[in-house]
Amino acid sequence: MKILVVDDSAVMRKIMIKALNEGGYTDVVEAANGLEALEKSAGVDLVFTDWNMPVMDGLAFVKEFRKTTQKPIVIITTEGGKKEVLEAMKSGINDYIVKPFSANVILSKIESLLQKSGCGPD
Ligand SMILES: [Mg+2]
Repeated sequence: MKILVVDDSAVMRKIMIKALNEGGYTDVVEAANGLEALEKSAGVDLVFTDWNMPVMDGLAFVKEFRKTTQKPIVIITTEGGKKEVLEAMKSGINDYIVKPFSANVILSKIESLLQKSGCGPD
């Protein structure tokens, strides 16, 4: 399963990738903003994306990504990001994670999304 991690913070990307690797998910692609994410999104089965990013933010990315695929998207938000989550839900995300998070939260999120949607072809 190929997972795309999108965040403008290199530290946050590193934390996410470490958590995914620990859970056995080693096919991980990273991007620093929405535009880079779109360029790297071919064949991706699941996306974790930040919301506030330069160049192209999470909202714009999700809208573009949803034009071509219904693969699950999880946004990573801050405690104060309830408004972001509501907006994101309307634009087609499947779930969200609040920072700071543990590796277990990430991994159980993946499991529940896989059960709900399967990660098969569109
Ligand atoms: Mg950010």
